[in-house]
Amino acid sequence: MENIGLYLHIPFCDGKCAYCDFFSKCGNQNDFDTYTENLCKAIENYSKIYKRKVDTIYFGGGTPSLIGNDRLCSILQTATKFFDVDNEAEITLECNPTSRWQLDFAKLHKAGFNRLSIGLQSANDDELTVLSRKHTAKEAKYTVDMARKSGFTNISLDLMLCIPKQTKESLQKSIDFCKECDVEHISAYILKIEENTPFYKMKDSLSLFTDDEQADIYEFAVNQLSAYGYKQYEISNFAKVGFESRHNLKYWHDEEYIGLGPSAHSFINGKRFYFPRNIESFYNNETVFESSGGNEDEYIMLSLRLTEGLIFEKFEDRFNHKVPKEIFDRAKALENAGLVTINEKSLSLSVKGFLVSNSVISHLLQ
Ligand code: SF4
Repeated sequence: MENIGLYLHIPFCDGKCAYCDFFSKCGNQNDFDTYTENLCKAIENYSKIYKRKVDTIYFGGGTPSLIGNDRLCSILQTATKFFDVDNEAEITLECNPTSRWQLDFAKLHKAGFNRLSIGLQSANDDELTVLSRKHTAKEAKYTVDMARKSGFTNISLDLMLCIPKQTKESLQKSIDFCKECDVEHISAYILKIEENTPFYKMKDSLSLFTDDEQADIYEFAVNQLSAYGYKQYEISNFAKVGFESRHNLKYWHDEEYIGLGPSAHSFINGKRFYFPRNIESFYNNETVFESSGGNEDEYIMLSLRLTEGLIFEKFEDRFNHKVPKEIFDRAKALENAGLVTINEKSLSLSVKGFLVSNSVISHLLQ
């Protein structure tokens, strides 16, 4: 049986960023203790149901760093106690640039965390203000430096593309900042206006980018990151060679994982399910069945998010037959429009195709 990933959701933030739709709440020290206790119980329970070897663990949120060193280390210890965790496992902690106030990076590194994903978003303080982030670029730099000094050799920074009033010059400054920090990995997401966020309510006054402007900024980011040695491997993810996120690759390779915490999704033993966006429901172990996972359409859809695309040999190994002819027929028309590339080994989306990936993929799978 293949190794799985373990995702642990920490649903607390010290305020809500205006664009954010992730499940998170404010919480106090008692809430953090109760949550840690319940998450550890869930880890123990699920390790008994699914006796699988784990080779990636990802602490996401919310703001995992908010609950502090001791709770994070005790959750990680619980995971390694109850699951068979590979000695070389990738263990990622998401944190904010203000996290150094809550964290002792050296202790975390010693406890086994070996990758940090830091929510920079921008190296321009005026853009950070627009996003209602609580940090400055200077603080982000200090946090990366502290993490480096504490032994972290695998650091990722998040960047936001198409922030209202962002220009190529200001984006270049953010990209230069990542390069100067010499981080190993960069995630660059286009700002999406989600319902039920403050940005959604004020969207008409936000000077949002048009589709053409978004395409221009995205292509600019892809080119600049590539010029600095960050190879694109997924629609929004770029890395130095060998530093692709192993945990996130499991999602795109349609491999299995367990997600624990409110709003966390799992795909395990061929079944997809999730915990609702409610902390009490998580404490009561209420889950919602989504679908049986791992079918051909899902596999194709996820593969096409990667720059390597759909590799025919891998598809054949998994499903014991060739990629259906209709997919090729539809892909041929898209190839002429410059949206996909087909060769004898694979079918993949171009940078232009990535920009409209949802429509390209639904067209291929219609
Ligand atoms: S810190 Fe992250 S998870 Fe929390 S509100 Fe901001 S973007 Fe959302």
